[in-house]
Amino acid sequence: MVNSGEKSHPALFPPSNAGIKMKKSMIVTGGSRGIGAAVSRLAAARGFAVCVNYQNAREAADSVVADIVAAGGQAVAVQGDVSNEEDIKRLFDTAETELPPLASVVNNAGIVSSLKRLDQKSADDIRRTINVNLTGVALCCAEAVRRLSTKYGGPGGSIVNVSSAAARIGGANEWIDYAASKGGIDTLTLGLAAEVGAEGIRVNAVRPGLTDTDIHAAAGAPDRMATIAPNIPMKRAASPEEIANAIVWLTSDEASYVNGSILDVAGGR
Ligand code: NAP
Repeated sequence: MVNSGEKSHPALFPPSNAGIKMKKSMIVTGGSRGIGAAVSRLAAARGFAVCVNYQNAREAADSVVADIVAAGGQAVAVQGDVSNEEDIKRLFDTAETELPPLASVVNNAGIVSSLKRLDQKSADDIRRTINVNLTGVALCCAEAVRRLSTKYGGPGGSIVNVSSAAARIGGANEWIDYAASKGGIDTLTLGLAAEVGAEGIRVNAVRPGLTDTDIHAAAGAPDRMATIAPNIPMKRAASPEEIANAIVWLTSDEASYVNGSILDVAGGR
């Protein structure tokens, strides 16, 4: 077990009689809450050992790990900011040291900016959104390629980036900078899929639509789901589990020829 200092947790391993043999691992950035927590739980149920990354919500990350372990799975919680290169390296190092070989990386961590017209936003707000959502995903993708690519002696694997329907819609009067960061993720996904497709790595993205998580209240709009739902063909928000189903499928062998795809999971919006 590696103790990487204050920012990492001890790994929690299943009891030896748990009967489940984990042979591959998944890193889920922002795995402590919302869509990332649903991905972590589902991936564990599908046989992945899961590295649950979080930034601040240590108790939530511990709770996801505890649920996985209680179900006979294997998981570790690792604190780290996805926009910080040293944190990313420590995140991947911890996963590689404490869990079975890395097979998949889900770049889910993301933030929204303040709900304002672009001309009302501060430069810091815009920079932070692009830094976490786009630079963070690019840095995590780069680290994933260095660990997984057959070019570097790795086993290959898959990367799923979590974009947003906002990349198509544009985020007018809410968060154009957020939408643009997600548009950047889409382009990054297409380019990286072409760049490393021959190196054993599939790269895809999921574009969730309105999803029932804390992200809306955190942006100061707890009623946002109720306001937007009538404009969605299916007249409701997604559950985090509905988004997780698509993400985990993309990491699976069932999606073995899916590369460079951007999958809308948005209820027809
Ligand atoms: P959420 O409930 O607010 O959870 C966000 C997660 O990201 C948390 O685990 C948080 O960790 C983590 N995180 C935030 N900044 C981070 C950073 N710098 N480094 C590491 N982790 C960080 O959000 P969500 O709704 O599940 O959203 C997940 C992803 O789906 C995001 O990329 C979001 O843009 C996208 N999405 C969401 C919706 C929606 O309607 N909910 C729609 C489309 C796309 P801590 O809590 O520990 O800080």
